Amino acid sequence: MSLPSLYLRRRHERRVQRGHPWVFSNEVAIERSPLTAFQAGDCVNVSSFSGKPLGTAYVNPHSLICARMLSAEANCILDEDFLGERLAHALALRERLGWLPHCRLVYGESDRLPGLIVDRYGDVLAVQVGTAGMERVRDDIVRALVKLCRPAAVVLRNDLASRGLEGLESYVEVAHGEVPTVVSLRENGASFEISPLEGQKTGWYYDHRRNRARLSHYAQGRSVLDCFSYVGGFGVQAAMGGAQSVLCLDSSQSALARLRRNAELNGVADRVDGRRGDVFDSLRALRGEQRRFDIVVVDPPAFMRRKKDRRAGIEAYRRLNRRAMQVLEADGLLLSASCSFHLSPEEHQEVVAGAAADVGRWVQILERGQQAADHPVHPGLPESEYLKALLVRVCGG
Ligand code: SAH
Repeated sequence: MSLPSLYLRRRHERRVQRGHPWVFSNEVAIERSPLTAFQAGDCVNVSSFSGKPLGTAYVNPHSLICARMLSAEANCILDEDFLGERLAHALALRERLGWLPHCRLVYGESDRLPGLIVDRYGDVLAVQVGTAGMERVRDDIVRALVKLCRPAAVVLRNDLASRGLEGLESYVEVAHGEVPTVVSLRENGASFEISPLEGQKTGWYYDHRRNRARLSHYAQGRSVLDCFSYVGGFGVQAAMGGAQSVLCLDSSQSALARLRRNAELNGVADRVDGRRGDVFDSLRALRGEQRRFDIVVVDPPAFMRRKKDRRAGIEAYRRLNRRAMQVLEADGLLLSASCSFHLSPEEHQEVVAGAAADVGRWVQILERGQQAADHPVHPGLPESEYLKALLVRVCGG
């Protein structure tokens, strides 16, 4: 049986041919293959205008990204077997990394499973389905995961805002077993407890694993300020690296409650404090109190979610980095992170340089960090590479 065809407009096949897994709705030859003929989640064979097969995709006629490539082969069936093979391939990478069972198991397009994220917390899996194509096979996904990983529980954290773009509703559902309110994970030798049902995103940000290790390397005997700390990923690991004191700032009460627990779990509660509030306000207040730190981490939520937020976003990053530098000792370290894809690494560097110029400090870049290898980059999809972490020495002032 052959899948229906989706034809691209003349000369619009290059990008997909080179491996970019998305087709935009204005690239479809709608006179030959009207998008309205498809239901969200249908599988199609994507073809160039002249009929050259490009592979199998699933479609969503209501979305700007109207098709996502599943394979370079035509006529693939997106079923439990197909998913099982792709999942096993993703699992093999994580086995090789040696981070199981605490890591990201599936990172969407980069693992050739567009629209699917899976994070693993021991024997609990947190799944995030982002597209109509994956939503249609969500039960197959759960079955294939259960078969492959034998987890005690699987939760669908389908409460991400971007699902609206795909016409999907937002929900959290336990799809297998019983999900405990708290699960444990280990990272770089530290232990953490997080909530897979209520935590942000899927509960933990594995993407900063290497950057947290990088930071704790410099922490011995230092005072550390962890801005946007969440449950203490950077702060607790810095304390374990020998920091003399760590102050964590976050606006979320529940994140700070978990932070305290995580500090206790690792025996560093006497050196880790949390303060609730808006980071921008808190930084200003700390400066007013003449507080100074040897190391400051700024790991904010994305200030640019869309291209049109760019100007305001760049200004917000610059203001944040400026304020962070103002509470740094004369020879301090700043770990400046950004998870906005729309802020390029070059622009991020300019933000840091600009902030330093604003406050009359002189900076040296010591290390450049990125997302950990369980968030592999798809070379054909620039959007899959989003995380930046500059470790800079901030002198003078
Ligand atoms: N650094 C963390 C992850 C940060 S996620 C880690 O390593 O795991 C972003 C965090 O910023 C969230 O915990 C959120 O509650 C907090 N947040 C968002 N906006 C904030 C603001 N304006 N002031 C303080 N905290 C904020």
